[in-house]
Amino acid sequence: MPTLTSYVCGAFASGRGELVPLLNPATEEVVAHASCGGVDLGAARVFACEQGGPVLRSMTFAQRGELLGKLAATIADHRDLLIETSVANGGTTRGGGKFDIDGAAGTLQAYAELGKKLGDVHELADGEPVSIGRGAKLAGRHLHSAREGVAVLINAFNFPAWGFAEKAATALLAGMPVINKPATATAWTAAKLAELLVAANVLPAGAFQQVLGGVTPLLEALGPQDVVAFTGSSGTGTTVRSLPALLRHGVRVNVEADSLNAAVVGGGVEVGSSAWHTLLRDVLREMTEKSGQKCTATRRVIVPEALVGPLVEELTDRLGALRVGNPANREVELGPLATKQQRDDVHAGCARMRKFTEVAFGTERPEKLIDVAPGKGFFAGPMVFVARDPKAVEEAHRDEIFGPVTTVIPYSGAAADAIALVRKGGGMLVTTVFADDREWGATVAKGIAPWVGRVCLVDSKSDGTTLPAGMVLPDLIHGGPGRAGGGEELGGIRGVQHYMARTAFQGPRALVERLLG
Ligand code: NAP
Repeated sequence: MPTLTSYVCGAFASGRGELVPLLNPATEEVVAHASCGGVDLGAARVFACEQGGPVLRSMTFAQRGELLGKLAATIADHRDLLIETSVANGGTTRGGGKFDIDGAAGTLQAYAELGKKLGDVHELADGEPVSIGRGAKLAGRHLHSAREGVAVLINAFNFPAWGFAEKAATALLAGMPVINKPATATAWTAAKLAELLVAANVLPAGAFQQVLGGVTPLLEALGPQDVVAFTGSSGTGTTVRSLPALLRHGVRVNVEADSLNAAVVGGGVEVGSSAWHTLLRDVLREMTEKSGQKCTATRRVIVPEALVGPLVEELTDRLGALRVGNPANREVELGPLATKQQRDDVHAGCARMRKFTEVAFGTERPEKLIDVAPGKGFFAGPMVFVARDPKAVEEAHRDEIFGPVTTVIPYSGAAADAIALVRKGGGMLVTTVFADDREWGATVAKGIAPWVGRVCLVDSKSDGTTLPAGMVLPDLIHGGPGRAGGGEELGGIRGVQHYMARTAFQGPRALVERLLG
């Protein structure tokens, strides 16, 4: 059985602390141990800043992009191996594992191409020079240059590969070395990934390190040039961003947290239309992919009252036909949750929803499980709730139930009511507007925009060609206001700038132009 280790200061290092067992969530068997604690985190930071940073900053965007391309190829070359660990330790189906692994390789490749486009430069000019003062002799211009510290990447359990890749791609392209901290419960995939990336010998020494276990002492040692990119629950995000050391030094912190994402339907969508079929496809996919453990999963389906019956009926038919069980069996379409804690949290969330809403489908523990020993495995749902009265609606907007669970919320069909309900989520990563009346769709999309990081638009003319909301794209920003953390990742060059400092230069035009090229 493997014992997973950290990779710091150019070597794989066993921690001195206790060994933490990592489980197969379908069988509850121990599949690996993580050796956590006792790693010299201060030395890791110095190694990154003194060795990795200077070499990365000496390279151009095109050269850093080449590194990312090689990392993407390494992941693609070992796809099957990584999918296996994802199934065994994450409880994902093969499809769920692919989503994470291919997402990681695809994101790195997208940023490799961006690096190539940015070319043989080390910094990024921001806008054109502007004349300042009265005459034309003085000019000002902004420039982004790589921050001189380390980027600490803290990731959630649900995307051990993609979560790392989206942060690492942007940080490394900017010219910052990274220290990755995967969630412990599903660290096997992250550990395997680290072994592969180190063996590929692509990155300069100090550009990539990985730490298993707690990183609080590392965060407390961070300084003004460092960056923290966090993904996880709102609670942990608040703890991290409130650390006095981070506040004192103005450390840049990006938080990606919970989200009550919505699908909002109206504007003339009819049962049986193309938009209707896309709605069903997307809701089912977002409920079941990675067992609903996606930050972008659709937690609320806001539909006109008249559509509730047909929607619940079709969802029930399709969910009832799902094969649930141990994802080691390739016929299984819905696996367990990743940990006992996640399972208990989802069961508790469902028990609370039961008090206020109607249960339209499912039970906390599914009845028929394929290849699962009695009483074993961290299974939940799938479950569909319908929230009809105001109290039920309030409950549906309170907590994120991080599993294969969604709540249908009937409403009048009026655009203003749709907007008001979406906003109640308090800040979302993504929301899809399903509408065949374009004016209605545009009103709702614009009305919710300040509350949502990404708005997906679907109509019947798109005829199923739209991408599901849960697919995060490297060219578009990922993040959301309010409870979603207030952060922003990816979005092409925008995600890279997070790891760079923007400086305004002013002076004689000739000097400014010569300095900034
Ligand atoms: P979590 O419990 O908050 O943990 C997230 C990460 O923080 C883990 O690596 C965890 O390490 C680490 N951590 C825990 N306590 C810490 C502390 N005091 N200081 C620094 N790091 C600490 O979240 P999770 O259960 O892994 O993930 C589920 C949540 O993530 C859900 O709420 C989901 O919505 C959210 N999520 C959001 C996004 C997004 O992009 N917005 C994406 C994916 C997931 P250990 O595992 O070692 O405790």
